[in-house]
Amino acid sequence: MEKLLKGIVKFRETDFKEHRELFGKLSKEQNPHTLFIGCSDSRLIPNLITRTLPGELFVIRNIANIVPPYRDSEEYLATTSAIEYAVNILNVGNIVVCGHSNCGGCKSLYASEDELKALPHTRKWLELAAKVKDQVLAKVSEEEVDKREWMTEQANTVEQLKNLLTYPFIREKVQQKTLSIAAWYYIIETGEVFIYNTQSALFELAN
Ligand code: ZN
Repeated sequence: MEKLLKGIVKFRETDFKEHRELFGKLSKEQNPHTLFIGCSDSRLIPNLITRTLPGELFVIRNIANIVPPYRDSEEYLATTSAIEYAVNILNVGNIVVCGHSNCGGCKSLYASEDELKALPHTRKWLELAAKVKDQVLAKVSEEEVDKREWMTEQANTVEQLKNLLTYPFIREKVQQKTLSIAAWYYIIETGEVFIYNTQSALFELAN
C-alpha cells in the first residue's frame, strides 16, 4: 500500500500539474469519444497503449473482455449498464473490444473442475465464452497449447463484437453509421495491436 500512497502524492505534485488545464475542463463534464472494453489484466493499460488522456476513454474492464449478450434483467449488471451509459448518455462514437496475449481468463476456459474450485463466479462468468472454446477446439487439438491460446483470445474478442450487436441501441447506431465497433488484439511482449478486419476475418497489425 505504501507504494500507492507515495504514488498519489507524486501524481498530485507532478502529472496533475502538467495537465491542470485539462482537469479543469473535465471537472464538470466528460465527453469521451470511445468506449474501451478490455480485460482486467494488469498488463493491458488502455490509456497507455492508445496514448490517450483523461476524458477520452470510457473504460469497462472485466475477466476476458466479455460483453454479455443483451437481455432484460432485474439483476445488477455492471458491464451492461456501463455499455448502456456510454452509448445512450455519453454518445461515444466508437466501441473497441480489446483482447490480449497470455489472457488468464481465456486460459481458464480449459481449466479442470478441480482448478476452478476456488473460482465459482469466474467459472460462471466464463460460461459466456463457452461457444468460443467449442469453435477453437474444432480447429486445433488440445495439445497445441500455444496456438489454442492465441486463437481463443482472438476468437473471444471477435465474439464480443457479435454480442455488442445484440444491444438494440448499438445495432441501431451501427446501422446508422453513428457508431463504429472494432475488435483489437494486444500483444504484451511486443506492444503491437492487431485490428480485426471484418472483410478478411483476420487480425492485421495497426499501422
Ligand atoms: Zn485477460
